[in-house]
Amino acid sequence: MSVRELVVLGTASQVPTRHRNHNGYLLRWDGEGILFDPGEGTQRQMLRAGVAAHDIHRICVTHFHGDHSLGLAGVIQRINLDQVPHPVTAHYPASGQHFFDRLRYATAYRETVELTEAPATADGVLATTAAYTLDTRRLSHPVESYGYRLTEPDTRRMLPARLAEHGIAGPDVGRVQRDGVLGGVTLEQVSEHRRGQRFAFVMDTRLCDGVYALAEGCDMLVIESTFLDEDAKPAADHGHLTAGQAARVAKEAGVRHLVLTHFSQRYGDPELFEVQARGAGFDGELTVAQDLIRVPLPTRHH
Ligand SMILES: [Zn+2]
Repeated sequence: MSVRELVVLGTASQVPTRHRNHNGYLLRWDGEGILFDPGEGTQRQMLRAGVAAHDIHRICVTHFHGDHSLGLAGVIQRINLDQVPHPVTAHYPASGQHFFDRLRYATAYRETVELTEAPATADGVLATTAAYTLDTRRLSHPVESYGYRLTEPDTRRMLPARLAEHGIAGPDVGRVQRDGVLGGVTLEQVSEHRRGQRFAFVMDTRLCDGVYALAEGCDMLVIESTFLDEDAKPAADHGHLTAGQAARVAKEAGVRHLVLTHFSQRYGDPELFEVQARGAGFDGELTVAQDLIRVPLPTRHH
């Protein structure tokens, strides 16, 4: 069985708290692991969450503020220390190349792993694999920030009962799949459309077109809600979202599972984020993230 889940490593914004580490998230997507925004302390949070350096195939950094990137130094050195056997690719805003260089080579260590730098320079596709297309959209924050989105290709699922009805078996199944028709029986008659799953990671940003584009139709949306709604003014001033704004985006975009995170240390009670998200009319699955939880992607719908 392929595993698709979000492992939450940290949920604090700028300042970590006794209960919240700086950001950090590992998305497990079949056999691959994508590490998003490793803040300070990510290496130790990985240990606590049962995530190994070997689990990381790709790193996506939204922007170069410390809570989203200070962990790169430790994580990259650990990947090399453990001699991870596969190549690793890193994406980040190209305008922050000097920050990436400093973090990658913050101190002395022996490089053993092929780490490919693949910075984002504009909206568009960053990578295509058999399991997904990764694309990026520019966000709106005081420093250049990019959100990320994984889209699994739509496919067709063969229906055994229909195949049997039409007497299609053995190598003929492959033929109808490949050719779209076999002896007058079409692929549509013996299969059904299977919509690919979609995941988006959105932070840090104020409301902008990129937020909506990334969220559209997602099975899971991980999005910052640094502030509560009563602090909409500082949120807009500093380039952040409130719980209600994030939830309204999710509602409009038809998101199935909304994960709120990146909370300001000024708030004590995480339940208020849930109350405001529900108050904004979002009625899908909702998780107010806590450090070290695992959130499975919702089961497929056809
Ligand atoms: Zn942040």
